[in-house]
Amino acid sequence: MEKLILFDIDGTLTRTENGYLPFNQAIVQTFGIEGDIRTVVPDGNTDPLIVRDIFAKANVRIDIDNSRWRQFAANLCASYGEHVDRGTTTVRALPGAAELLQQISLGDDFSASVVTGNFEASAMLKLSAAGLADYFYRGAYASDSELRPDLPALAKKRFEQLVARTVDWEQCVIVGDTPKDLEAARQNRMKCLLVGTGRYPIEELEYWQPDACLPDLGDTQAVLTALTNL
Ligand SMILES: [Mg+2]
Repeated sequence: MEKLILFDIDGTLTRTENGYLPFNQAIVQTFGIEGDIRTVVPDGNTDPLIVRDIFAKANVRIDIDNSRWRQFAANLCASYGEHVDRGTTTVRALPGAAELLQQISLGDDFSASVVTGNFEASAMLKLSAAGLADYFYRGAYASDSELRPDLPALAKKRFEQLVARTVDWEQCVIVGDTPKDLEAARQNRMKCLLVGTGRYPIEELEYWQPDACLPDLGDTQAVLTALTNL
């Protein structure tokens, strides 16, 4: 039976160098207050919760309404675009990511979508910069909810609407790099494969007992076998 593979982006498919530059720029542009993403652990978190963490850590009390979040998302995407164009920020596909996505797109066993803490526009920008944008059905993003566990069900629903058929929960696999990806999978009765290409080494990820764990996506056949066996 066909499986829906829901990929995290940062640390799983891509690695960004100097991503703090556009992020911090968007904070000051949007809120008029300096904030530094390097003061918090952003891994696995959604962008709105990262901003809240940054302000909490700096003891800044601020109410942020929906229109301000939309402004932040727009500023973040624009500043990401500027920095990527200038080369001051780089987004690269992690080893094996492109090959894996290509294999998935060629076969009938899997479909690929995304579940990410990025806003949709910046998610697309990062995937484009990494050369991976063409491989995905529309997924779920921080622009849909700031709570990551809300996102897998939405990505599943969007996929089902696009292809006009349903997928069992157990046939959905989240591929991520943090315990937060696993938590989102568990809360949605989905399977989870974690890879050690983000902040957490594979030994640490195994402690959380995901359904499968790999050091990276480098061995395409090993990843496809792991996904098939879940
Ligand atoms: Mg990640």
